[in-house]
Amino acid sequence: MENVIIIGSGCAGLTAAIYAARANLKPLVIDGHEPGGQLSLTTHVENFPGFPDGIMGPELIENMRKQAQKFGAEFKSGTVSEVDLTGKPFTLKSNDAVYETRALIVAAGATSRLLGLKGEKELIGKGVSTCATCDGYFFRGKPIAVVGGGDSAMEEANFLSRYATKVYLIHRREEFRASKIMIDRAKANPKIEFLLPYTVDMIHAPKDLVTGLHLMHAKTGEQKTVDVDGVFVAIGHEPNSTVFRGKLDMDENGYLLAKHGSLTNIPGVFVAGDVQDHRYRQAVTAAGSGCMAAIDVEKFLEAHGN
Ligand code: NAP
Repeated sequence: MENVIIIGSGCAGLTAAIYAARANLKPLVIDGHEPGGQLSLTTHVENFPGFPDGIMGPELIENMRKQAQKFGAEFKSGTVSEVDLTGKPFTLKSNDAVYETRALIVAAGATSRLLGLKGEKELIGKGVSTCATCDGYFFRGKPIAVVGGGDSAMEEANFLSRYATKVYLIHRREEFRASKIMIDRAKANPKIEFLLPYTVDMIHAPKDLVTGLHLMHAKTGEQKTVDVDGVFVAIGHEPNSTVFRGKLDMDENGYLLAKHGSLTNIPGVFVAGDVQDHRYRQAVTAAGSGCMAAIDVEKFLEAHGN
Protein backbone atom coordinates (compact mmCIF):
# COMPACT_ATOMS: atom_id res chain seq x y z
CA MET A 1 0.00 0.00 0.00
CA GLU A 2 1.40 3.37 -1.03
CA ASN A 3 0.88 6.62 0.84
CA VAL A 4 0.58 8.56 -2.38
CA ILE A 5 0.82 7.71 -6.05
CA ILE A 6 1.56 10.49 -8.49
CA ILE A 7 0.38 9.90 -12.04
CA GLY A 8 2.67 11.77 -14.43
CA SER A 9 6.32 12.78 -14.42
CA GLY A 10 6.20 16.25 -15.95
CA CYS A 11 6.84 19.46 -14.12
CA ALA A 12 3.72 19.12 -11.93
CA GLY A 13 4.23 15.46 -11.03
CA LEU A 14 7.92 15.88 -10.25
CA THR A 15 7.37 18.95 -8.09
CA ALA A 16 4.67 17.05 -6.21
CA ALA A 17 7.17 14.18 -5.84
CA ILE A 18 9.85 16.50 -4.43
CA TYR A 19 7.47 17.92 -1.84
CA ALA A 20 5.86 14.59 -0.94
CA ALA A 21 9.27 12.91 -0.65
CA ARG A 22 10.58 15.69 1.59
CA ALA A 23 7.48 15.15 3.75
CA ASN A 24 8.65 11.52 4.16
CA LEU A 25 5.70 10.11 2.25
CA LYS A 26 7.85 7.99 -0.13
CA PRO A 27 5.73 8.85 -3.16
CA LEU A 28 5.49 6.49 -6.10
CA VAL A 29 5.51 8.23 -9.48
CA ILE A 30 4.02 6.42 -12.46
CA ASP A 31 5.82 7.94 -15.43
CA GLY A 32 3.04 7.92 -18.03
CA HIS A 33 3.30 7.55 -21.78
CA GLU A 34 5.53 10.63 -22.14
CA PRO A 35 8.07 10.59 -19.29
CA GLY A 36 9.12 14.11 -18.43
CA GLY A 37 5.99 15.55 -20.03
CA GLN A 38 6.01 18.48 -22.39
CA LEU A 39 9.20 20.03 -21.03
CA SER A 40 11.10 17.00 -22.26
CA LEU A 41 9.91 17.86 -25.79
CA THR A 42 10.79 21.53 -25.68
CA THR A 43 13.96 23.53 -26.29
CA HIS A 44 15.18 26.58 -24.48
CA VAL A 45 13.05 27.62 -21.50
CA GLU A 46 13.62 31.30 -20.80
CA ASN A 47 10.85 32.03 -18.34
CA PHE A 48 11.39 29.51 -15.54
CA PRO A 49 12.49 31.68 -12.59
CA GLY A 50 16.04 31.19 -11.42
CA PHE A 51 17.67 30.65 -14.81
CA PRO A 52 18.67 34.09 -16.14
CA ASP A 53 20.29 32.52 -19.21
CA GLY A 54 17.49 30.00 -19.73
CA ILE A 55 17.74 26.23 -19.48
CA MET A 56 16.97 23.42 -21.90
CA GLY A 57 13.60 21.78 -21.12
CA PRO A 58 14.99 18.19 -20.92
CA GLU A 59 17.76 19.35 -18.55
CA LEU A 60 15.28 21.15 -16.30
CA ILE A 61 13.07 18.08 -16.08
CA GLU A 62 16.01 15.74 -15.48
CA ASN A 63 17.15 17.97 -12.61
CA MET A 64 13.68 17.81 -11.06
CA ARG A 65 13.64 14.03 -11.36
CA LYS A 66 17.05 13.71 -9.65
CA GLN A 67 15.87 16.09 -6.93
CA ALA A 68 12.78 13.93 -6.29
CA GLN A 69 14.87 10.73 -6.25
CA LYS A 70 17.35 12.29 -3.86
CA PHE A 71 14.56 12.65 -1.29
CA GLY A 72 13.24 9.12 -1.80
CA ALA A 73 10.63 9.29 -4.56
CA GLU A 74 10.31 6.06 -6.52
CA PHE A 75 9.50 5.78 -10.20
CA LYS A 76 7.73 3.11 -12.25
CA SER A 77 7.33 3.32 -15.98
CA GLY A 78 3.92 2.65 -17.41
CA THR A 79 0.57 4.18 -18.21
CA VAL A 80 -2.41 3.95 -15.90
CA SER A 81 -5.19 2.10 -17.71
CA GLU A 82 -7.78 1.66 -14.93
CA VAL A 83 -8.61 3.37 -11.67
CA ASP A 84 -11.11 2.57 -8.95
CA LEU A 85 -11.80 5.57 -6.75
CA THR A 86 -15.03 4.26 -5.23
CA GLY A 87 -13.51 2.94 -1.99
CA LYS A 88 -10.38 3.26 0.14
CA PRO A 89 -7.66 2.49 -0.64
CA PHE A 90 -7.82 3.63 -4.27
CA THR A 91 -6.65 1.03 -6.77
CA LEU A 92 -4.82 1.62 -10.04
CA LYS A 93 -3.78 -0.66 -12.84
CA SER A 94 -0.72 0.12 -14.92
CA ASN A 95 1.00 -2.29 -17.32
CA ASP A 96 -0.53 -5.34 -15.59
CA ALA A 97 0.57 -4.20 -12.10
CA VAL A 98 -2.10 -3.27 -9.56
CA TYR A 99 -1.36 -0.60 -6.98
CA GLU A 100 -3.18 0.47 -3.85
CA THR A 101 -2.79 3.94 -2.42
CA ARG A 102 -4.18 6.12 0.34
CA ALA A 103 -3.94 9.27 -1.75
CA LEU A 104 -3.58 10.07 -5.42
CA ILE A 105 -2.21 13.04 -7.34
CA VAL A 106 -3.28 13.21 -10.97
CA ALA A 107 -0.63 15.14 -12.89
CA ALA A 108 -1.12 13.32 -16.18
CA GLY A 109 -0.63 16.41 -18.35
CA ALA A 110 -1.92 17.00 -21.83
CA THR A 111 -1.12 15.59 -25.27
CA SER A 112 -0.55 17.36 -28.60
CA ARG A 113 -3.63 17.90 -30.72
CA LEU A 114 -3.69 16.89 -34.39
CA LEU A 115 -5.48 18.62 -37.28
CA GLY A 116 -7.71 15.62 -37.93
CA LEU A 117 -6.73 15.33 -41.61
CA LYS A 118 -6.86 12.11 -43.60
CA GLY A 119 -3.62 10.15 -43.21
CA GLU A 120 -2.18 12.63 -40.69
CA LYS A 121 -1.70 10.13 -37.87
CA GLU A 122 -0.22 7.50 -40.17
CA LEU A 123 2.27 10.08 -41.48
CA ILE A 124 3.75 10.77 -38.04
CA GLY A 125 7.42 9.97 -38.46
CA LYS A 126 7.04 10.31 -42.24
CA GLY A 127 6.91 14.07 -42.37
CA VAL A 128 4.22 14.89 -39.79
CA SER A 129 5.49 15.77 -36.33
CA THR A 130 4.27 17.32 -33.09
CA CYS A 131 7.75 17.76 -31.66
CA ALA A 132 10.25 20.13 -33.23
CA THR A 133 13.01 19.24 -30.79
CA CYS A 134 12.62 15.54 -31.51
CA ASP A 135 12.35 15.72 -35.29
CA GLY A 136 13.78 19.06 -36.43
CA TYR A 137 17.16 17.63 -37.29
CA PHE A 138 15.62 15.31 -39.91
CA PHE A 139 14.60 18.34 -41.96
CA ARG A 140 17.95 20.03 -42.36
CA GLY A 141 18.25 21.62 -45.79
CA LYS A 142 14.52 21.14 -46.48
CA PRO A 143 11.44 23.37 -46.52
CA ILE A 144 8.87 22.72 -43.79
CA ALA A 145 5.65 24.15 -42.35
CA VAL A 146 4.46 24.85 -38.83
CA VAL A 147 0.71 25.04 -38.18
CA GLY A 148 -0.67 27.13 -35.30
CA GLY A 149 -0.78 30.63 -33.90
CA GLY A 150 0.26 30.15 -30.27
CA ASP A 151 3.61 30.37 -28.49
CA SER A 152 4.36 26.75 -29.41
CA ALA A 153 4.02 27.48 -33.13
CA MET A 154 6.26 30.57 -32.88
CA GLU A 155 8.84 28.75 -30.81
CA GLU A 156 8.88 25.74 -33.11
CA ALA A 157 9.12 27.91 -36.23
CA ASN A 158 12.13 29.73 -34.80
CA PHE A 159 13.78 26.54 -33.64
CA LEU A 160 13.19 24.76 -36.96
CA SER A 161 14.64 27.66 -38.95
CA ARG A 162 18.04 26.46 -37.71
CA TYR A 163 17.69 23.38 -39.88
CA ALA A 164 15.13 24.13 -42.57
CA THR A 165 15.74 26.18 -45.70
CA LYS A 166 12.32 27.77 -45.26
CA VAL A 167 9.57 27.65 -42.63
CA TYR A 168 5.98 28.46 -43.59
CA LEU A 169 3.98 29.46 -40.54
CA ILE A 170 0.37 28.62 -41.33
CA HIS A 171 -2.38 29.93 -39.09
CA ARG A 172 -6.15 30.00 -39.56
CA ARG A 173 -6.58 33.58 -38.31
CA GLU A 174 -4.75 36.89 -38.67
CA GLU A 175 -4.61 37.32 -34.89
CA PHE A 176 -2.38 35.21 -32.68
CA ARG A 177 -2.57 33.70 -29.24
CA ALA A 178 1.21 33.85 -29.02
CA SER A 179 2.91 36.51 -26.91
CA LYS A 180 4.20 39.62 -28.67
CA ILE A 181 7.87 38.83 -28.05
CA MET A 182 7.51 35.41 -29.70
CA ILE A 183 5.61 36.82 -32.70
CA ASP A 184 8.16 39.61 -33.17
CA ARG A 185 11.00 37.10 -33.05
CA ALA A 186 9.36 34.90 -35.69
CA LYS A 187 8.53 37.90 -37.89
CA ALA A 188 12.13 39.10 -37.73
CA ASN A 189 13.39 35.69 -38.85
CA PRO A 190 14.12 35.87 -42.60
CA LYS A 191 13.53 32.14 -43.05
CA ILE A 192 9.95 32.27 -41.72
CA GLU A 193 7.09 33.20 -44.05
CA PHE A 194 3.66 33.75 -42.50
CA LEU A 195 0.68 32.38 -44.45
CA LEU A 196 -2.48 33.92 -42.94
CA PRO A 197 -5.32 33.17 -42.65
CA TYR A 198 -5.01 29.71 -44.17
CA THR A 199 -6.27 26.31 -43.14
CA VAL A 200 -4.59 23.08 -44.16
CA ASP A 201 -7.10 20.84 -45.87
CA MET A 202 -4.87 18.10 -47.23
CA ILE A 203 -1.42 16.66 -46.70
CA HIS A 204 0.23 15.47 -49.90
CA ALA A 205 2.22 12.28 -49.38
CA PRO A 206 2.08 10.29 -52.62
CA LYS A 207 4.73 7.79 -51.53
CA ASP A 208 3.94 7.80 -47.81
CA LEU A 209 6.30 10.73 -47.26
CA VAL A 210 5.09 14.31 -46.96
CA THR A 211 5.76 16.40 -50.09
CA GLY A 212 3.39 19.31 -49.59
CA LEU A 213 0.25 20.83 -48.11
CA HIS A 214 -2.94 21.94 -49.75
CA LEU A 215 -4.18 25.17 -48.19
CA MET A 216 -7.34 27.22 -48.32
CA HIS A 217 -7.60 30.94 -47.56
CA ALA A 218 -10.02 31.20 -44.64
CA LYS A 219 -11.71 34.36 -46.01
CA THR A 220 -11.53 34.19 -49.82
CA GLY A 221 -11.51 30.42 -50.30
CA GLU A 222 -8.43 30.77 -52.56
CA GLN A 223 -6.53 27.49 -52.73
CA LYS A 224 -2.82 26.93 -52.96
CA THR A 225 -0.18 24.28 -52.46
CA VAL A 226 3.11 24.67 -50.62
CA ASP A 227 5.91 22.19 -51.20
CA VAL A 228 7.31 21.03 -47.88
CA ASP A 229 9.00 17.88 -46.62
CA GLY A 230 7.62 18.20 -43.13
CA VAL A 231 4.71 19.68 -41.21
CA PHE A 232 4.89 20.42 -37.51
CA VAL A 233 1.46 20.57 -35.91
CA ALA A 234 1.54 23.01 -32.98
CA ILE A 235 -2.15 23.62 -32.26
CA GLY A 236 -2.42 22.93 -28.56
CA HIS A 237 -3.17 19.94 -26.41
CA GLU A 238 -5.82 17.58 -25.04
CA PRO A 239 -5.83 16.75 -21.31
CA ASN A 240 -4.89 13.14 -20.51
CA SER A 241 -7.98 12.50 -18.45
CA THR A 242 -9.82 9.71 -20.34
CA VAL A 243 -9.23 7.15 -17.60
CA PHE A 244 -11.03 9.44 -15.12
CA ARG A 245 -14.16 9.97 -17.22
CA GLY A 246 -17.23 9.47 -15.02
CA LYS A 247 -14.97 9.25 -11.95
CA LEU A 248 -13.65 12.76 -11.46
CA ASP A 249 -15.43 16.00 -12.31
CA MET A 250 -14.19 17.51 -15.56
CA ASP A 251 -15.22 20.30 -17.92
CA GLU A 252 -16.62 19.78 -21.42
CA ASN A 253 -13.07 19.59 -22.86
CA GLY A 254 -11.95 16.94 -20.39
CA TYR A 255 -9.91 19.21 -18.10
CA LEU A 256 -10.22 17.97 -14.51
CA LEU A 257 -11.87 20.43 -12.17
CA ALA A 258 -9.80 21.52 -9.19
CA LYS A 259 -11.37 23.27 -6.21
CA HIS A 260 -9.70 25.03 -3.30
CA GLY A 261 -6.27 24.50 -4.86
CA SER A 262 -5.80 20.87 -5.85
CA LEU A 263 -8.88 19.16 -4.40
CA THR A 264 -11.32 17.13 -6.52
CA ASN A 265 -14.82 15.77 -5.94
CA ILE A 266 -13.22 12.70 -4.30
CA PRO A 267 -11.45 13.29 -0.97
CA GLY A 268 -7.92 11.94 -1.22
CA VAL A 269 -7.63 12.57 -4.98
CA PHE A 270 -5.76 15.72 -5.97
CA VAL A 271 -4.90 17.28 -9.34
CA ALA A 272 -1.96 19.32 -10.64
CA GLY A 273 -0.55 20.64 -13.89
CA ASP A 274 -1.96 20.78 -17.40
CA VAL A 275 -4.55 18.03 -16.89
CA GLN A 276 -6.51 20.63 -14.89
CA ASP A 277 -5.24 23.87 -16.44
CA HIS A 278 -6.25 25.15 -19.85
CA ARG A 279 -5.53 28.75 -18.96
CA TYR A 280 -1.94 29.19 -17.79
CA ARG A 281 -0.19 25.97 -18.89
CA GLN A 282 3.27 27.17 -17.93
CA ALA A 283 6.10 25.11 -16.47
CA VAL A 284 6.16 27.34 -13.41
CA THR A 285 2.39 27.19 -12.83
CA ALA A 286 2.44 23.40 -13.27
CA ALA A 287 5.28 23.19 -10.74
CA GLY A 288 3.35 25.46 -8.35
CA SER A 289 0.23 23.33 -8.60
CA GLY A 290 2.31 20.17 -8.02
CA CYS A 291 3.59 21.72 -4.81
CA MET A 292 0.02 22.57 -3.76
CA ALA A 293 -1.18 19.01 -4.44
CA ALA A 294 1.64 17.50 -2.35
CA ILE A 295 0.90 19.83 0.58
CA ASP A 296 -2.81 18.98 0.29
CA VAL A 297 -1.96 15.26 0.33
CA GLU A 298 0.17 15.72 3.43
CA LYS A 299 -2.70 17.46 5.23
CA PHE A 300 -5.18 14.85 4.02
CA LEU A 301 -3.06 11.94 5.28
CA GLU A 302 -2.47 13.67 8.60
CA ALA A 303 -6.22 14.18 9.03
CA HIS A 304 -7.03 10.60 8.03
CA GLY A 305 -4.45 8.81 10.15
CA ASN A 306 -1.33 8.53 8.01
P1 NAP B 1 -2.40 27.62 -27.74
O1 NAP B 1 -1.91 28.85 -27.11
O2 NAP B 1 -3.70 27.02 -27.30
O3 NAP B 1 -2.48 27.90 -29.30
C1 NAP B 1 -2.99 26.94 -30.18
C2 NAP B 1 -3.04 27.53 -31.57
O4 NAP B 1 -3.43 26.52 -32.49
C3 NAP B 1 -4.03 28.66 -31.69
O5 NAP B 1 -3.48 29.69 -32.45
C4 NAP B 1 -5.22 28.00 -32.39
O6 NAP B 1 -5.88 28.86 -33.29
C5 NAP B 1 -4.55 26.95 -33.22
N1 NAP B 1 -5.46 25.80 -33.44
C6 NAP B 1 -6.12 25.07 -32.50
N2 NAP B 1 -6.81 24.08 -33.08
C7 NAP B 1 -6.60 24.19 -34.41
C8 NAP B 1 -7.05 23.46 -35.53
N3 NAP B 1 -7.86 22.40 -35.41
N4 NAP B 1 -6.64 23.86 -36.76
C9 NAP B 1 -5.80 24.93 -36.90
N5 NAP B 1 -5.33 25.66 -35.86
C10 NAP B 1 -5.73 25.30 -34.63
O7 NAP B 1 -1.37 26.41 -27.62
P2 NAP B 1 0.24 26.44 -27.53
O8 NAP B 1 0.84 27.33 -28.53
O9 NAP B 1 0.60 25.00 -27.52
O10 NAP B 1 0.54 27.06 -26.09
C11 NAP B 1 -0.01 26.45 -24.92
C12 NAP B 1 0.49 27.18 -23.66
O11 NAP B 1 1.88 26.96 -23.48
C13 NAP B 1 0.29 28.69 -23.74
O12 NAP B 1 -0.05 29.15 -22.46
C14 NAP B 1 1.65 29.20 -24.12
O13 NAP B 1 1.89 30.52 -23.66
C15 NAP B 1 2.57 28.20 -23.44
N6 NAP B 1 3.87 28.11 -24.15
C16 NAP B 1 4.87 28.96 -23.77
C17 NAP B 1 6.11 28.93 -24.42
C18 NAP B 1 7.19 29.85 -23.99
O14 NAP B 1 6.90 30.82 -23.32
N7 NAP B 1 8.44 29.56 -24.29
C19 NAP B 1 6.30 28.04 -25.48
C20 NAP B 1 5.26 27.20 -25.87
C21 NAP B 1 4.03 27.25 -25.19
P3 NAP B 1 -6.93 29.96 -32.77
O15 NAP B 1 -6.09 31.02 -32.12
O16 NAP B 1 -7.60 30.41 -34.01
O17 NAP B 1 -7.83 29.26 -31.80
